[in-house]
Amino acid sequence: MSDNADELLRELFWRSSLRIAVLDIRGRIILTSKAFRDSFLKMVRISEDGSEVLELPHDDSRDESYFDRLASLPPGERFSFSIRLPFAGVETGCRIETTALNIKKRGKPLFLTEWIPGEDPEVIIRALSEIEQKYRNLQENLPVGIYRADEKGILQTANSALIRMMGYDSFEELQDAPLEDVWIDPAQRARMIEHLRREGSVLDYEVHLRRRNGDEMIGSYDARGTFDSEGRLVHFDTIVQDITRRIQAKTELERLARTDSLTGLFNRQYLMERFDEEIARAGRYDRPLAVMLIDLDHFKLVNDTHGHLAGDAVLVSAVSSMTGVLRETDFAGRFGGEEFCVVMPETGMQGALELAERLRKGMEETDHVLPDGSKLRVTCSIGVAETSTGSLEETIALADAALYDAKRSGRNRVERRTDRQ
Ligand code: GH3
Ligand code: MG
Ligand code: MG
Repeated sequence: MSDNADELLRELFWRSSLRIAVLDIRGRIILTSKAFRDSFLKMVRISEDGSEVLELPHDDSRDESYFDRLASLPPGERFSFSIRLPFAGVETGCRIETTALNIKKRGKPLFLTEWIPGEDPEVIIRALSEIEQKYRNLQENLPVGIYRADEKGILQTANSALIRMMGYDSFEELQDAPLEDVWIDPAQRARMIEHLRREGSVLDYEVHLRRRNGDEMIGSYDARGTFDSEGRLVHFDTIVQDITRRIQAKTELERLARTDSLTGLFNRQYLMERFDEEIARAGRYDRPLAVMLIDLDHFKLVNDTHGHLAGDAVLVSAVSSMTGVLRETDFAGRFGGEEFCVVMPETGMQGALELAERLRKGMEETDHVLPDGSKLRVTCSIGVAETSTGSLEETIALADAALYDAKRSGRNRVERRTDRQ
């Protein structure tokens, strides 16, 4: 063959759309098509003598390798061999059609091979089942609960993370658990499914579940529904995250943000917010609302005589004496130092004065135990104000003025101011 013809053949071979290669008996590559290279470049290794060698993945399930088969193939004969290869990023079956050529290179037989990916059903099934297994493992090992439920919410599948999360030992136990055992408010599930039906999915949906041991579990649901051609919900797949600790931490932070750390009462800012809401409500429904400001008398003297720590102990004890007198609907906050504020919804001046008097008297008669074991009594002065039309600031100013009156007229007293003329 002339050089030109040789070149032409090489070019034709290279341009073929088939994935073809000519190999020797040890897998050395003599010729390939571009299509072959594009598909299988990853399997080509450069050997020590600089030639390219095809490296096939080892297949444990066979006694005889591909190259063993080549060795026993007479010239002109062909055989078909299947292996598993990564092809287009997915491990898949590949059939190799091999023909022993009548020509040799340096005395060694050559083989024409055509590589046909993805055609061996057995290999495909094996690959699919492996993919399924991998998917199952992934689902099992994820730290989130995953389940599928039918249109009524009955569990069809669940991963072990969900079963563990809920404190059950098996899928069947969780599936058989009565609705009221699993859902703190079963109507919440109905609402969630209704939302799914309407919107197709739910995101960050907070649900309150019950673990098997009775503890509450707060879950965050991300669910997606599958619908039939008429738009009816067939089933839905849900990812459940256990956000109990996160919500508890958030709730605790919110509590801390509105609490005075020494006395456990509301702090001034939160009390004012709540008071503002009560003023709005009272105005809207024309209901009475009263407030009192309480200031401990001569408290500086307590600190000066017994020390600051003793002062703190008296403050805490005084608060518990105060709150013991309050009613369910009243709420109290620490306004600053040794000054407190009590908001009394649904209470007019008369009721407020009576409560303030009880509080003053209770304080007067309470023994506060100091850290050294000794006992001490303190008194308080109270200013009461009623509001119906006033703003928050006006009402507080009235109560403050009443408190000032109480101090000025001798302390350990209750005084009043009102915006009603
Ligand atoms: P009055 O009868 O006029 O209210 O006299 P008073 O001494 O209570 O008034 P004043 O406002 O002059 O002093 C309040 C004192 O309360 C001063 C401060 O040392 C003390 N106090 C404020 N907050 C705290 C606290 O958190 N712990 C302690 N131990 N003392 C506090
Ligand atoms: Mg004081
Ligand atoms: Mg004060």
